[in-house]
Amino acid sequence: MTEAPPQPSPPAILSGVRGLCPRCGAQSLFSGILAFAPRCRACGLDYGQFNVGDGPAAFLILIVGAIVTVLAITVELSFSPPWWVHVLLWLPLTLVLTMGLLRIGKGVLLALEYKNRAREGRLVEPDR
Ligand SMILES: [Zn+2]
Repeated sequence: MTEAPPQPSPPAILSGVRGLCPRCGAQSLFSGILAFAPRCRACGLDYGQFNVGDGPAAFLILIVGAIVTVLAITVELSFSPPWWVHVLLWLPLTLVLTMGLLRIGKGVLLALEYKNRAREGRLVEPDR
């Protein structure tokens, strides 16, 4: 079985959802569940030059926290279950949402860094 030829420069959201290289579109962005591959197997883009930092985690704290909190309050006010029901419901949901959305968020932010040519800030040397 042969792979389809890579598509040029996919949208940033597809880079995150499907793990596509932001330059050539090959499915090579991740080497594990959350770890970036060192470089693209198809075009050689060095993923190590990008630093998404804590950006995806900061977004996820707000998004997943809001979802789980609203659901937990709704279940508590509707059914008043024992405390262990909350543990059984919200711990796995939080873990699944965090892992799934963290992968997508990391891929999207790396693709946006590539497309916007984002680099670390540097001081401009004054003219002499
Ligand atoms: Zn590539």
